[in-house]
Formats: sequence, C-alpha cells, structure tokens
Amino acid sequence: MIKFRGIAEYVMSSPLPAALKENIPHIIDKLNSDILRKGAKNPQDAAKIVAYKIKDNILEFTIESGAVVRLHHATLRIKNFLAPLLGKDYRIGIRTIKIRNPEILIDQKLRFSTSLPLIREIIVTDNSTIIKLNDLDESIIKRPIIDRLLKLIETKEKKAKWGGKVEHWRLIKRSKEKEPKFFEDPNEIIEKIGWIKRFAPGQWLYTPPITHLIRRFEQLFINIVLKPLGFVEVIFPKIVPLRIGVKTGHLKGTPHQMMFASQPLSYNIEDFDEWIDLVSVTEEAPPEELKRFLKDPSYFLCFAQCEPFYWFFEGEIIDREKLPMRWYDKSGPSFRWESGGLRGLERLVEFHRIEITWIGEPDQVIEIRNQLLERYEYFMDKVLDLEWRWAWVTPFYLVHAGEIEEEEAEIDINRPGTIDFEAWLPYKGPKEDHHTWLEIGNISIHGAKYAEPFRIKHQLRDKIIWTGCSGFGVERWFIAFLAQKGFDPDNWPKIVRERITRPPLSVQLVTYPHTKEGKEILDEIEKLLDKLPVE
Ligand code: ATP
Ligand code: ZN
Ligand code: MG
Repeated sequence: MIKFRGIAEYVMSSPLPAALKENIPHIIDKLNSDILRKGAKNPQDAAKIVAYKIKDNILEFTIESGAVVRLHHATLRIKNFLAPLLGKDYRIGIRTIKIRNPEILIDQKLRFSTSLPLIREIIVTDNSTIIKLNDLDESIIKRPIIDRLLKLIETKEKKAKWGGKVEHWRLIKRSKEKEPKFFEDPNEIIEKIGWIKRFAPGQWLYTPPITHLIRRFEQLFINIVLKPLGFVEVIFPKIVPLRIGVKTGHLKGTPHQMMFASQPLSYNIEDFDEWIDLVSVTEEAPPEELKRFLKDPSYFLCFAQCEPFYWFFEGEIIDREKLPMRWYDKSGPSFRWESGGLRGLERLVEFHRIEITWIGEPDQVIEIRNQLLERYEYFMDKVLDLEWRWAWVTPFYLVHAGEIEEEEAEIDINRPGTIDFEAWLPYKGPKEDHHTWLEIGNISIHGAKYAEPFRIKHQLRDKIIWTGCSGFGVERWFIAFLAQKGFDPDNWPKIVRERITRPPLSVQLVTYPHTKEGKEILDEIEKLLDKLPVE
C-alpha cells in the first residue's frame, strides 16, 4: 500500500485578511469532505488536510493521502478550488504553489536507485520504505514524472509479490504420448561430428550439412504454417536504437539479457592512431582501451525481433480495409546474453528465429492467433510428430494487482497473454520431470501493449489496434526434433523424410572432426543421410 505526506504551500498576491483566516476551517471541511474525496471509492485512497498554517501571504496545508487522490493531485485540486473563491470574495490571487517535504510511504521493503530524478533520500526498514522527494514546484507537479515514479513503485511492489518469477505457468494442452526414437543428446553429437564449431560462447559456425537441414526445416514451417495463412516476408533491421527499446519496454524489463552496440568516436582514421599503434605492436585488442575510441552504446542488438514492426506503424493511422496485416521476418539473428546458461543449440547468444507479427482490430488479432495455433498444432503433431505441450504463461507485465494469488479455474486464452510451446527432450530424462522440457516457441496477443506507446491508430475513432507476435526459434525446434527422432531418416515422419533433401557432404579434414569417435559417428550419419531424396 502507498501513502503520501507533504506540505502544500500556496503563496498569495497579498497577506490573508482576517475574514479569510476565520473561514479557513470551513474551507478545509469542504475540501476534506468533498473535493479531496472525489474519485476515491474508499476514504483511505483519498487525500486529507490534517493541519494548516498561515504566515503573511502564505497558506500551508499538511496533506496525507492515499493512492488514488495523490498528494500532488490534491495540491492542484485545492488550488483549483481556492483560486476562484479567493479571487471573487477577497480579490487575492495565488502566485505560486509548491509541495514541501513530499514523502511516499510504502508498507514493504523495496529497493530503489537513489539516482532517480526527484529523490532526496530513501529510508528502508524491514517492512517499510519511505521515499523523501525534493520539494516540487508547480511545473513538476503538473508533469507526468511523479506518476511514472509511482508506476515504477507499483511495478516493484507487484514484482515483490510475484516472488521473482518472470512468468506464471499453466498447462493448457498436450500431445498424445509418443514413442521416442532416440535418447542421446543431439547437441553433443553435432558438435562431435563437426557440423557446428564454437566461434565464441553461445555462437557457432554452422557448416553446410547442418545449414542445409536447418534451412529446409525453416522452409517446411513457412510452407505449412505461414503461407497458407497469408503471411508475407519482410526484412527487419537488426540493431535497434535505444529509444525503441524504451517504448517496447525491453530496456526496463530485460536489460540484463541484452547486447549493446556503440558507434566509433570519429570517422577520421587519424583519430585512431593511438589504437592502431597499440594493436600493431601488441597484436591484442584490449576492450578497456578500445572503449576510449567509442561513443557510448546507442543501440541494442536484435532482442525480441519484432521491435521494428511496432516502430513501423508508429504514429500512423491505418485504414480499416487494410487490416489485418500479417508479416514475418527471418532476415537475421537475435542476440541474448544468457550468462552461465548456454548449452549447445538450445541456449545461444546468437540464435535464429522466424518472427511472426500481425496487427489488426482486437477480434482479428485473436482470430489470427487462433488460426496460427491450429497450424502450429498440425505442424508439431502431424508433420514433426513431436511430443509437445502448451502452457499459458502470464508474463509479469500483464499481471494486475490482486490477480496473483487467486488462480482462475478456467483460463480464457482469447485475451492478451502468451502461450509457450514446449517439446520433451528424452535425453534429459523422464517427461514427468519439468526440466526435461524445452521452450521451442511462443505466441502472444499483446492487446494494446505496443499500439499504445507507439500511438498506432485505427481510422475509425471508436476502434482500437491490437498486435500479436510469435517466435519460431529455429535452433530449438530443430534440436527438439533431433532429440526425439535422431539422425536416421527411417525414424522421421513421412513428410519430413520426403521434403528434406540430402545435405551436402560434411566437412572432413586431416584434423577435423577433432576426435576419432567424432569421425566414426560422422561416417555412420553420412550413410544414414543417403536415405534422403537427392535435390
Ligand atoms: P527461455 O525461457 O527458454 O529462456 P524465453 O522465454 O527467454 O525462453 P522468448 O523471449 O519468449 O524466450 O523468445 C522466443 C523464442 O526465441 C523462444 O521460444 C526460443 O525459441 C527462442 N529463444 C529465446 N532465447 C533463446 C536462446 N538463448 N537461444 C536459442 N533460442 C532462444
Ligand atoms: Zn515478438
Ligand atoms: Mg530467456
């Protein structure tokens, strides 16, 4: 719960006359019983003047308030109430207003950056947080910065209640049980046989045979799921200016997982003389030295992949008959810092994804999500024959106060939210163990989450715009398929066997693959792949 306390100071054009001084208690009664109560159902959400003081031409009210009629709202309401009254009855004007010693009182322990604008001091105990703000003048009182600060406080409160979990997981559908054909770890195998070579942590070079398989796999998805639903391809940019990440919310939600990029300090090669000398002599590139020749980071590397979609429609008004629009992008990689969690092709720093985006009226966005779900199910169940399950995951940003503890009996999926697609990885252990499942993709209805900050408008004033997106993580789908079906095409479902052609020969050098075991497994796999049709 949030409360506020502070002193609202009104500086008048002349000292308060005796008649007005006498009248102040009545004015306070009126304010407390009516003006400062409006909009708050519960009196404790309203504001209240608890003391006052008059000094020459200054009138001071000590205000305590709840979360609805907040201290700064109350200060403005009082001004709006007093101004005409004082003008008419006493010929006095209000020169300036100010809030002195404003404080926000929270009944739990929260952590804040003391470098936030407006904050003077923060006092934290085990079960309370007091945020003391700098004195606020009228221009700040009227700006949305206080409300944003309060929003931040609310978000922190909710996060604390949410128990640090990022999402809330509920099973909504699962496939029949399927007989796994394979129990080994395909990540290890493809590394051993040299199909992939580690370039840097979480980054791989994909050699011709695996590139071929992955590309055919993508094509299968595009032809079976996206094309029949009318999705068309676009090319989205892959480094994103910071401003856009502020609007999408990623820069406040996931800054710890994002990779950033900087421009060089100058376009003149002479300005790099010192650096060039250093690299020439030492044959090293020390990052802390390089930093001196770079501007501060101003981009992040493609993170959600759909950021440019919302940006494209920013400030635009869309004709009714142009809606809905269905696009997909597979033009480049996404980047994510996964720290210690990296694993084979399952958890990468640089990964590939087909990002599917759509925009329309709310019922169109829901309808398209449902059509996609149906095609996704066909693809994972009939085409790839995977053992899969779907979960309704409520991401933290959609959690509303109070909704957290009470679990709804029925989940209504036709509303903003996310469904995760998961596949069982037999090599990790029994399917009853939650950790043996891998998220391979997801699909979301965002509601107006992006349409609002990007001011995307419908041609008709009474209609609103919604968006949706879905991420098909190419490496994850591919590794899930190999994990359940293995490398022998005889164990692959019919459509896959027919449509995926014989890959080019694997790279074999005197020294590559690096182990004898790797070379032997590779020979076996090369033979198995001969079962595939030649292109
Ligand atoms: P996880 O919970 O496994 O970290 P996520 O919730 O972070 O996944 P999203 O942000 O929803 O994943 O990304 C959408 C899709 O992008 C995922 O379903 C997955 O297919 C893919 N993806 C995300 N992170 C990675 C990664 N580090 N390596 C490979 N693919 C990834
Ligand atoms: Zn997206
Ligand atoms: Mg993740």
